[in-house]
Amino acid sequence: EVRVRFAPSPTGALHIGGVRTALYNYLFAKKHGGKFLLRIEDTDQNRFVPGAEDYIRESLDWLGITPDESPWKPGEVGPYRQSERKEMYMQYALDLVEKGHAYYAFDTAEELEAMRERLTAARVVQPQYNGITRMQMKNSLTLPADEVKARLESGDPYVIRVKIPLKEDVRLNDMIRGWVMVHTSTLDDKVLMKSDGMPTYHLANIVDDHLMGITHVIRGEEWLPSAPLHVLLYRFLGWESTMPQFAHLPLLLKPDGNGKLSKRDGDKLGFPVFPLNWTDPFTNEKSSGFREKGYLPDAFLNFLAFLGWNPGDEREIFSVEELVEAFSIERIGKAGTKFDIAKANWYNEQYIRNKPNTALENFLIEDAKAEGIEISSEKANAILNLLKERVVFPSDFWRDSKFIFIAPMAFDQDVAAKKWNADAITVLTAYAAALDQVTTAFDASQAKSLLEQTAETAGIKLGKIMQAVRLAVTGMGAGPDLMEVFAILGPKELAQRIRFALE
Ligand code: GLU
Repeated sequence: EVRVRFAPSPTGALHIGGVRTALYNYLFAKKHGGKFLLRIEDTDQNRFVPGAEDYIRESLDWLGITPDESPWKPGEVGPYRQSERKEMYMQYALDLVEKGHAYYAFDTAEELEAMRERLTAARVVQPQYNGITRMQMKNSLTLPADEVKARLESGDPYVIRVKIPLKEDVRLNDMIRGWVMVHTSTLDDKVLMKSDGMPTYHLANIVDDHLMGITHVIRGEEWLPSAPLHVLLYRFLGWESTMPQFAHLPLLLKPDGNGKLSKRDGDKLGFPVFPLNWTDPFTNEKSSGFREKGYLPDAFLNFLAFLGWNPGDEREIFSVEELVEAFSIERIGKAGTKFDIAKANWYNEQYIRNKPNTALENFLIEDAKAEGIEISSEKANAILNLLKERVVFPSDFWRDSKFIFIAPMAFDQDVAAKKWNADAITVLTAYAAALDQVTTAFDASQAKSLLEQTAETAGIKLGKIMQAVRLAVTGMGAGPDLMEVFAILGPKELAQRIRFALE
């Protein structure tokens, strides 16, 4: 059975890259009839941010990417928060020490700093705690066994480090990147257990993936450099035969393709990078969210799926079920993907157009209500038909139809200067009089033929006065189909507006 996991650290708001990772895990699990797990990786207590876990949960809920197993819906391999699994890690670290693949290290912060300075002075580009330096440091490989024992017994602070083999090539076959090979001379003896008794990310991640039966690790490319170490840990722990397959997802790039998409790009370039609004509890910094901006969850999910994956043909609109059906890791690209907000907007437009009015009317009705205007369902329906093909966000419905409910008190002066003329006044005066004779509601084509007749009788071409007519009725120089607007307003209101404009 396929079992995958999304393993965020609750160190802040989930970034769009994280949501994409969650989505790809979800799609892969569903495609193969497997399970999608969520594990909270909160072993680094210095970086813990209150509220971050709720944020992760709410973001996934918004998009409908619901984990099959998680802290709030535990399955059989829980707990699903690493802080609640604390006791489980030490035994594996000790097992590694026993097998000679890890060791106790007693160096103080000052000693480590001095080592780094020495290496820097010797022009070592990347100072590491590795096969060479570890022979000069204070650890269970360099100290006499009885001293090690005494130090451990007296409660001296220590960490446990992995012992990276000296000269070896570590290989892994990444599902996206193909064969990746790394020489162990470039790896350092990473800490596995910290002095506070907590595991580091590397140890906890491997132990948990193993105990939770994870079959595929799908995560961001920033973790690729850690993968060789993870392969070694699987081997050292004797779990090589059940080691998950790795798939490292391409980076998300800034819209111009120059570098990695960062938190700041969004605000700078006028789009959110977080799924939901978020206020950092420490800095009080606010970030805007896709949900609040008005992206529909299904449109946004469709957009997200295409940030690095494509179905191999021209189709772009996919429901989540269709994505599950079409998804495959083979069709994820290796190259970074540019983040293009115009594409997100395009998806939103498409989804709005394709939704039934009943799914949209509340946006309009609620926004209007907030400004004290009641809109009937029937009227909302007419307005949605009028605007559906023209909006990007649901909030545009009220913005672009407000003029229908609130008669203009002022008129766009630029348009008036260019388009207001004697012919328009003649036709409008006559049209208002003609409207007085209409006693029932009328539709757009009736409103139009009445206007055409009026203009014809006056011997004036409609083309010359249409913008003035629009200005008189709406106050603006541009907007949705004017005759449809006339029909919604009705003859009485229309005549009133025209007379007001003529005054
Ligand atoms: N906790 C890591 C993160 O925050 C998980 C990386 C992984 O998936 O292995 O991204």
